[in-house]
Amino acid sequence: MLDNLSNRLSGVVKTLRGQARLTDANIQDALREVRMALLEADVALPVVKKFVNDVKERALGQEVIGSLTPGQAFIGVVYEELTRLMGAQNDALNLAAVPPAVVLMAGLQGAGKTTTSGKLAKRLKETQKKKVLLVSTDVYRPAAIEQLKTLAGQLEVEWFPSDVSQRPVDIALAAHDYAKKHFHDVLIVDTAGRLAIDDAMMAEIKDLHAAITPVETLFVVDAMQGQDAVNVARAFNETLPLTGVILTKLDGDSRGGAALSVREVTGKPIKFIGVGEKLNGLEPFYPDRMASRVLG
Ligand code: GDP
Repeated sequence: MLDNLSNRLSGVVKTLRGQARLTDANIQDALREVRMALLEADVALPVVKKFVNDVKERALGQEVIGSLTPGQAFIGVVYEELTRLMGAQNDALNLAAVPPAVVLMAGLQGAGKTTTSGKLAKRLKETQKKKVLLVSTDVYRPAAIEQLKTLAGQLEVEWFPSDVSQRPVDIALAAHDYAKKHFHDVLIVDTAGRLAIDDAMMAEIKDLHAAITPVETLFVVDAMQGQDAVNVARAFNETLPLTGVILTKLDGDSRGGAALSVREVTGKPIKFIGVGEKLNGLEPFYPDRMASRVLG
């Protein structure tokens, strides 16, 4: 995860760590390396520019130059700015609603919505002892409904039946009603995704959102999509009042730059990261830990 970025930045760290003095030229070199590293990791250009500028401003100030260990101080600034870029701290899932707390999963097809719905159900069941209900509103792909049913079976979490002849809003409302009557704490609503953003899909999920007023509207995005992930994130963020992001497939050979851009572009916290196909492959996202990892 973010290995290339990490390799490159740890090179900068090594060069600077022992320096007793930093000159303007040293700093410019280091900033150039940081910029290259971020661009190679597929971080969006405007995000890279802003990041490098922020680091530069601080690096040329007394905080770094005037420090007894300027190399260390520079690295400290990069660490702090990376952490800030990714959202500063972990934002936990918000379930503060009259039960059932509704969690709506949005994103493109293949992003990992269904798998992540299962992972989230497992997590809520095991770590918070929540009674969870899973429902799929993907009326375009019967296989998607079956996939969620299978996951629910594996997890021994209740699954609400749905069928391709129904309207997504009707399915969600029926599931909500059922969850209320049966005292479920959380209702996770998986939605249909298209291969690309289209108006019909956006209108449908907007209607769904309006009908069930979720407390969490999570945008699920594949980190392997690189720059594209940022564009998709922007489009969803403009359509829906997103409350958070789940970045999937960070275990793969993705360059991972999306992790650094998505927060900045949407202003919404990355709440979890997907780190494997298995149902335990979901972790809360900690910007500071990720920044430490990246700096090696
Ligand atoms: P959906 O169309 O958005 O519902 O996507 P799916 O949940 O069906 O996932 C698409 C593919 O991505 C499946 O093969 C999943 O196993 C895989 N997948 C989902 N999340 C992760 C992850 O965090 N890591 C890896 N390696 N694969 C994932």
